[in-house]
Amino acid sequence: LARNPGEQEFHQAVHEVFDSLEPVLRKNPQYVDAAVLGRLCEPERQIIFRVPWVDDAGQVQINRGFRVEYNSALGPYKGGLRFHPSVYLGIIKFLGFEQVFKNALTGMPIGGGKGGSDFDPRGRSDGEVMRFCQSFMTELYRHIGEHTDVPAGDIGVGGREIGYLFGHYKRITNRYESGVLTGKGLTWGGSLVRTEATGYGTVLFAERMLATKGESFDGRRVLVSGTGNVAQYAIQKAQQLGAHVVGCSDSTGYVVDEAGIDLALLQQTREVDRLPVSVYAERRGGAATFVPGRRVWEVGADIALPCATQNELDEDDAAALVRSGLVAVAEGANMPTTPKAAALLQDAGVLYAPGKAANAGGVATSALEMQQNASRDSWSFDYTEQRLAGIMHSIHDRCLATADEYDSPGNYVVGANVAGFTKVADAMLALGVV
Ligand code: NDP
Repeated sequence: LARNPGEQEFHQAVHEVFDSLEPVLRKNPQYVDAAVLGRLCEPERQIIFRVPWVDDAGQVQINRGFRVEYNSALGPYKGGLRFHPSVYLGIIKFLGFEQVFKNALTGMPIGGGKGGSDFDPRGRSDGEVMRFCQSFMTELYRHIGEHTDVPAGDIGVGGREIGYLFGHYKRITNRYESGVLTGKGLTWGGSLVRTEATGYGTVLFAERMLATKGESFDGRRVLVSGTGNVAQYAIQKAQQLGAHVVGCSDSTGYVVDEAGIDLALLQQTREVDRLPVSVYAERRGGAATFVPGRRVWEVGADIALPCATQNELDEDDAAALVRSGLVAVAEGANMPTTPKAAALLQDAGVLYAPGKAANAGGVATSALEMQQNASRDSWSFDYTEQRLAGIMHSIHDRCLATADEYDSPGNYVVGANVAGFTKVADAMLALGVV
């Protein structure tokens, strides 16, 4: 890690996985002999490029683009693109590293990668977003392909951005290669359930985890952070299962709505009008309150679903949640819980599902989208959702069984890290030193 100074999130993600591996390495010295850990600390390929574009005022803007093709032992690189001003190499590498194990846990033939840019789509016109996406793809197209590397969305990259990216890829390659990107629109190669998949999958994982203690979402008080793609559909599925979702947030603050979040109003405000969550509270009249600049966790809940960004639930937040009677946390976001907060939750006996297991439904459904593209088929909503539920249940059960096998019953962190690692490590051994 000394070779990667200043990449704090990357170091955090590597420690989080490697801390679980000691018993695995003791049992399997072949992983040590073949330097699997050392190889896993070095992405197979890292691409950094200039993204020049012209804004609505005619000014030239310069952003930095990234694609980290992390590991392809199990299949083509697969992982989203993030457009957010905080993006730098350390964030993309942490996300790529996590993605390798997450994708292994899905049981599907996909390797791990991640990309993005420090471009901030907020406040930009449609035309500006399109010109940025076209410039980004003008370089990215050389590196991707359905058998090579298949990007998707992440923070700041939704259906609109995937459309502009796919349109430009098609134009400059003269190929209608549906399998090159996932998260596409339904009329041009997308899959039903992909939009909902990460949020739904997180809740389905949590439901199965709660069931191990005879618990469920029914009648439970739930908090969700974020109000983006993952958060919206986590709220929807939790509500379908009878939960009372009383708070959600964005980067400006949170809303508390004791009558239960009105999802249609939230989606109109955040998704359609692209306005901050404070406007949801205004539109809701007296039912909801907006609290600026604070985190939603202080409201207290039975179940917490962090669905915004990394390191958004710290030790103080975890302590406040535990005091309020918290039963379970399932991570829709990647690495949202700080290491100290995760330890505190586990010590307090809270059921804790790490993101690489709980939010794997998004990428798993992306792999289902690739299957549909390859066979030029499209599946129904119900069938695709059944497939998603089956995948989430099997990830859950594998994490639990692996945790048992390594003397850490009920520890989903150990289960996810060890099950993901052994799958990738075995493939790397079989493929030789490459
Ligand atoms: P979106 O861009 O749709 O939504 C992100 C949400 O998080 C917004 O409400 C945003 O608020 C908030 N947010 C972003 N950055 C911060 C910050 N620094 N502090 C507080 N709030 C913030 O992204 P997604 O819903 O797609 O992604 C959310 C998380 O889920 C990420 O960690 C992502 O990596 C992970 N994930 C996503 C998958 C997917 O399929 N989309 C798959 C697996 C994981 P604002 O608009 O104000 O910035």
